[in-house]
Amino acid sequence: MRGELMYEGKGKQLYASDRQGELIQLFKDDATAFDGVKHDVIAGKGELNCAISSFFFEKMQEAGIATHYIRREGAVEMRVRELAMMPVEVVVRNVAAGSICKRLGLEEGIPLKWPLTELFYKSDELHDPMIAVEHTELFGWASRDDIEEMRATALKVNEVMTSLLADVGIRLIDYKLEFGKADGKIYLGDEITPDGCRLWDAETGRKLDKDVFRRDLGGLSEVYHEVANRLGIELEFA
Ligand code: C5P
Repeated sequence: MRGELMYEGKGKQLYASDRQGELIQLFKDDATAFDGVKHDVIAGKGELNCAISSFFFEKMQEAGIATHYIRREGAVEMRVRELAMMPVEVVVRNVAAGSICKRLGLEEGIPLKWPLTELFYKSDELHDPMIAVEHTELFGWASRDDIEEMRATALKVNEVMTSLLADVGIRLIDYKLEFGKADGKIYLGDEITPDGCRLWDAETGRKLDKDVFRRDLGGLSEVYHEVANRLGIELEFA
């Protein structure tokens, strides 16, 4: 049961729920890129992302990772623990792609010798600038210990996701995670969907993620369906 709208982002809404400390996270059909400059509404995207995110969060919890996920509650809704979010994005990269290629002049597709974690300050206005732990500490966004724990969790997520995706012929190139706190404890929050990951077909290299939308490479809904189907994810909410 949804209560008052508490927060609206580009791809999601958060509503109060009938229980204190729990929220309803709703996945919208909106697709955005370049800090909202490119925008479209893609029918069924919210349902796909809700199903895929629920699937991954359940796998993370099975692996002992603390997440905000409680359960899926509708076609586009999941119940989550309310968190005080930290304004820090943790990106994990296994293969060079996207912003790191531009920043460091790397060729897209070069495998990294080990997974790289990077930190970004969450701010549309400033276009999510890259930061270091010194900044998160100095400006009070997250302590050094918090960042260490978030990085360790992000790498554990990498192991779980890489293996699940490799089993269905998908390479996990990179992804972004967000964390928050409840009662002093850090939880993985936000979402885990092809909106926030780069996923390439292991054989052909075909992109199965939001780069399809960012770079006008075809139908986004079709590739998200492909990811869900390969992982055996049931889209219908029973
Ligand atoms: O743009 P960049 O190459 O740094 O993105 C790395 C990964 O993080 C990509 O999978 C991208 O989809 C994700 N990301 C995101 N939201 C952001 C920035 C990056 O989901 N604000």
